[in-house]
Amino acid sequence: MLLSGLAEPMDPIAYAKAYLSNRAQELTERLAGVERSRQRDDGTLSADAEERATECENDEVLDHLSDVTRVELAQVRRAMERIDKGEYGLCEHCGQPIEEARLLAVPEVTGCRACARARIAA
Ligand SMILES: [Zn+2]
Repeated sequence: MLLSGLAEPMDPIAYAKAYLSNRAQELTERLAGVERSRQRDDGTLSADAEERATECENDEVLDHLSDVTRVELAQVRRAMERIDKGEYGLCEHCGQPIEEARLLAVPEVTGCRACARARIAA
């Protein structure tokens, strides 16, 4: 368990590595699950209008879930690549170190707080 070694200072990179590889696996499994539910659907819509509406809604939910998962997975993979390149923890916009609390809270972030704010404002 990651948080059990409180006597030792937590190494943010080791923590991020463990967290990110876990997260990547979770997201990959979720994506596979979404694709499986999609395939169960044979693509033909019911004659019943109400059922048809439900099927379209389900498709939208699956599309959305799939998009959100893909985006997060891409972000997680990017953070993992940055660890491999030795760039992890540095903001990809300004090159300044990202706040440690921010990294621990959201290990897949690739930008510092100031840049994230600036990008939201932009
Ligand atoms: Zn920055």
